[in-house]
Amino acid sequence: MAILPIIEAPDPRLKVKAKPVKAVDARIRQLLADMVETMHAAPGIGLAGPQVGEPLRLLVIDVPKEGLPREGQPPNPMKIVNPEIVWASEELQPWDEGCLSLPDQFAEVVRPAEVKVRYLDENGARKELHAKGVMAVCLQHEMDHLEGVLFVDHISALRRNMILRKLQKAKKLKQPVPA
Ligand code: ZN
Repeated sequence: MAILPIIEAPDPRLKVKAKPVKAVDARIRQLLADMVETMHAAPGIGLAGPQVGEPLRLLVIDVPKEGLPREGQPPNPMKIVNPEIVWASEELQPWDEGCLSLPDQFAEVVRPAEVKVRYLDENGARKELHAKGVMAVCLQHEMDHLEGVLFVDHISALRRNMILRKLQKAKKLKQPVPA
């Protein structure tokens, strides 16, 4: 297992459309395990392939059970390969979203309140999931990453540019100064 470096915006690698996984093999299982470890270490509730430099259609999520405190809940990661939204509710819900690739930035995004997602699990078995609440938000957010879309792409250009400028500045500060 390994903790992978997370790519931070703005970065062209976060804007690429990810490719389908051809076979859920040992390499993919290792990558999914590393992504779970990376997500837990961050800590975060979701992580998509492109965020760790793997432009593949896969993601991991670990959403705490609603109505219970996060602390004390055992980890319950899900590994999702080649996901597809097969149904979305007409009802929408707003949610204050953040992203491991946009550290310390948050904005309200409106998305369908419920979705049905078809995917392959880490053994390549076909699965279907009906998600609502934070699980629905997280799934749609992570699936956006597979299209090269960030949560800031759902908000006004003015706010988006403000956030991206802030991140650009923070990135420059993190770079070592040449001696
Ligand atoms: Zn994200």
